[in-house]
Amino acid sequence: MGLLDKLIVVKVAAHDAGAAVAVDVSGASDAQVLGTLVSTFGADDSCTEIQVRRGGALLGTVNREATIAFVGDGLKGVGASDAMLLPGVGNYSTTNWVCPRRDCGYSLVTIVFDDAPNCARHPDQTLVLQG
Ligand SMILES: [Zn+2]
Repeated sequence: MGLLDKLIVVKVAAHDAGAAVAVDVSGASDAQVLGTLVSTFGADDSCTEIQVRRGGALLGTVNREATIAFVGDGLKGVGASDAMLLPGVGNYSTTNWVCPRRDCGYSLVTIVFDDAPNCARHPDQTLVLQG
């Protein structure tokens, strides 16, 4: 995917367990992926990087600076809902999943709703909807 080729800055999962947030881009368009990344960064100022996955595969890590630079300075500091105003970003909703295991804390955002994904740290553990 061309968009992700531009945004992914770390291809090696050197800190697979460290990133706080992961986004699964399965089935999503470039515009939906970009909108989701921007809104995820926008919703949490402390979020500096997002893991990008497609199904069970880790594609790489996208960082905040690269994403903001890509969409332009005009979007700095916008709220999460403003990301939906990006041209070409249709009406869609994302789903937040979390690992139910104690002390895991793994979370995943999916753009296209599908069966519950599995935890990247506990491959036998199905994630649950974030309450
Ligand atoms: Zn887990």
